[in-house]
Amino acid sequence: MNLMPFFETAVVALNHNKCAELGDRTQYIGSSDVAGCARKVYLQKTQPVTPSVSTLLKFSRGHAAEILIENIFNAAGVAHLFDTQVELEHPFYPLKAHVDFLFHSDLDGTPEHHIIEVKSVSAIPDEIYPQWSDQLSFQLGLLHLKNPKIKVGGSILAIDLNAGKMHQFNGFSYNDAVFNYLSCRALYLLDCLDEKDEARPSVSHTCSYCSYRTDCPALTLPKVQLPPEIEALAGKYAELNSTKSSAEKEMKSIRQELMDFTGPAFKGCSDTVNLIVSSVASSQVVDAEQLLQQYPDIYSEVLKERAGYTKLECKPVKPVKA
Ligand code: SF4
Repeated sequence: MNLMPFFETAVVALNHNKCAELGDRTQYIGSSDVAGCARKVYLQKTQPVTPSVSTLLKFSRGHAAEILIENIFNAAGVAHLFDTQVELEHPFYPLKAHVDFLFHSDLDGTPEHHIIEVKSVSAIPDEIYPQWSDQLSFQLGLLHLKNPKIKVGGSILAIDLNAGKMHQFNGFSYNDAVFNYLSCRALYLLDCLDEKDEARPSVSHTCSYCSYRTDCPALTLPKVQLPPEIEALAGKYAELNSTKSSAEKEMKSIRQELMDFTGPAFKGCSDTVNLIVSSVASSQVVDAEQLLQQYPDIYSEVLKERAGYTKLECKPVKPVKA
């Protein structure tokens, strides 16, 4: 039984069904569009392409994470407290959001509205990505427009299924100024779709799985003539760097397998290797996002200059597909 050719079409069909739940995305601007790159949003809606199977599998990982979280909530007996995939719509413009989880009360029953956006990641970031907080802030804004009298809050639940870790970036609330800014951005995207403005690219961590990357002006470099020895050195650097990245990836998965065996504490020595696993005690750090939101004056007082540095990037040129 050869599953691979079957998967090539089945994964596309799965993604198609999932997208169908969100309606025709070419007809409205969604909360993830508002937070994303204008060029990508424009091209996705005007020249849609089917992403590679590998990218589609990564998208499916996100859906799987949502189902898992829902199952966890249900198992804990709080199914009556939330709705899933709640559609929020702007009263005047074609702007929408599909909220992963909308809680109508806190877990202890205290009435409050709380949006949870689930993000499946391969490593939990130290800081929330700006695209995540923009997406959540836009959802909070649409929810506020629907029910201006209720207090709305939200959080991002990042889950790393491989490592079995999750982290809640909590403490977000409706903010007039932020929603205003994001609404202007959404209207700019609508103008781009109406060909009234230029859809400008903005680079972010999501560029790595963008289907419109090959000819993206933000990532296109000017053609130069390099001295042969410099070209050879840069090529060598790129080669070493890719070995380093693949080694890091492999180390991450081996690390997980080792830790599955050892647990959080272990000390031992075989004939060939010393194996030690120890815990670093937790410590406290200042939540910069919360400090900025709650005490903006103090935040600006404690800011300090970070020294800049020279960054070197060498990557092999990918052959252009015919
Ligand atoms: S590669 Fe990055 S900047 Fe370019 S269109 Fe895609 S998301 Fe935007």
